[in-house]
Amino acid sequence: MATEAMPTAAAELDGGAMDCGSGLLLLLMRTIRGIDPGQVLLVRTEEPSVPPDLDDWARLAGHEILAAVADAPGGPWQVAIRRGGAPGPAPEPAAVFSGGAATPVGHRLWLYSNFHCNLACSYCCAKSSPQASPRQLSAADALEAATQFAALGGRELIVTGGEPFLHPQIGAMVTGLAALLPVTVLTNAMVFERGARRDALESMPRDRVNLQISLDSAEADLHDRQRGAGSHAKALAGIAQARALGFTVRIAATLHDADATAVGALNTLLDTLGIEPANRLIRPVAAQGYATAGLPVGIDTLEPEPTLTTEGIWWHPVAVTDPAMRIGDATVPLSEALGIIRDTLAVQDAAHREGRRHVFRCA
Ligand code: SF4
Repeated sequence: MATEAMPTAAAELDGGAMDCGSGLLLLLMRTIRGIDPGQVLLVRTEEPSVPPDLDDWARLAGHEILAAVADAPGGPWQVAIRRGGAPGPAPEPAAVFSGGAATPVGHRLWLYSNFHCNLACSYCCAKSSPQASPRQLSAADALEAATQFAALGGRELIVTGGEPFLHPQIGAMVTGLAALLPVTVLTNAMVFERGARRDALESMPRDRVNLQISLDSAEADLHDRQRGAGSHAKALAGIAQARALGFTVRIAATLHDADATAVGALNTLLDTLGIEPANRLIRPVAAQGYATAGLPVGIDTLEPEPTLTTEGIWWHPVAVTDPAMRIGDATVPLSEALGIIRDTLAVQDAAHREGRRHVFRCA
């Protein structure tokens, strides 16, 4: 890289010790979208991998490195980047984490209603438990986000947690959301047997709200080992209650590779229960949150599905405890979050066309 005087910058970004695998990439995408084509972004970094990564990123994204200066032989560095024109259209996504067809960006929005839960599953990607801070999304904020999303052409909403039925406004929230778009609520189905939570469930419109219920195995052993003693029987009871109330129920199982042989018996049970194959989701444990083993995930490998929590907008619902997967503050307009995702996908697609597996050091 050339070493020369820094041009005047329209925006500055201090990346500190971050590299592109620890959050710099999304921060970079967000910041350069805030300046006009032709203007300059000045990036400061202490991380030696970043200046060469910025060379590749700028070329793939259609920007131009104007200058790079090392303050000392071992850094830190300053890199001036001139923003190019708008990136091309987003490519069709190439990698899918969960089974089933890829969901185009902009079709589906996830909402974390809260983070506390009656369970503390060993693989919980959200680090939920009875002790977790609730971090409850207000019904008003959920409706505002859903209204923006519907206006942008969004097609479906998914409410997750934590256990959503612990949210005191869950009935009104979901019913309000369902007036805008079809909603799926993810639940462990263990807390709506009676009382206010039962009332909340019964208040939801069956033609606009589906339930996705976790069931990891046909027999109790594996499910209870991962999700807590007695949880299998209660989940089966909850599935029966939801279906008796007229809800379409989708079953989701989360398994480590070593337990893949449990899938056959689970499918046999689901056949017996009359759960359609289209309403079954078998997925691997993601190495996020409480999981100490599982599928490594990052923005290079995980299909983006924008996710709103009280703390921000994230790349995917399994990665809301990973700072490298955070797109922006909760106050970032959804249109901007979708733009950041599409810009990132465009760069990734350009890198893949060059035969690269990863654009940056996103291990
Ligand atoms: S995996 Fe689901 S049910 Fe288990 S602790 Fe996390 S949020 Fe609760």
